[in-house]
Amino acid sequence: MPKLHVKKGDTVLVLAGKYKGKKGKVLAAFPKKQRVLVEGVNIVKRHTRPTPRLPQGGIIEKEAPIHVSNVMLVCTKCDKPTRVAKKFLEDGRKVRVCKKCGEEIG
Ligand SMILES: [Zn+2]
Repeated sequence: MPKLHVKKGDTVLVLAGKYKGKKGKVLAAFPKKQRVLVEGVNIVKRHTRPTPRLPQGGIIEKEAPIHVSNVMLVCTKCDKPTRVAKKFLEDGRKVRVCKKCGEEIG
């Protein structure tokens, strides 16, 4: 399965499109589609019929997934958009490391 450079829970910066420059949290990742769902980004309006969960029906606003190439990971330590390096720890664990500040990213 192709892996994405970001995962659920990461904070990302949007690089292109209508939401360029916006930061948000990754709500879900879809590696097969190479897309991520980012909180508050790419909001689309959906017209829905009334359902038991949404008795009023009508228009709901919801995030739609965007292509992963349009986002960059934001480091949780230095708060800058960055690329990640992979580092192997002595105990064999693999961690993601910020290329800007060298800190481990969760
Ligand atoms: Zn950093």
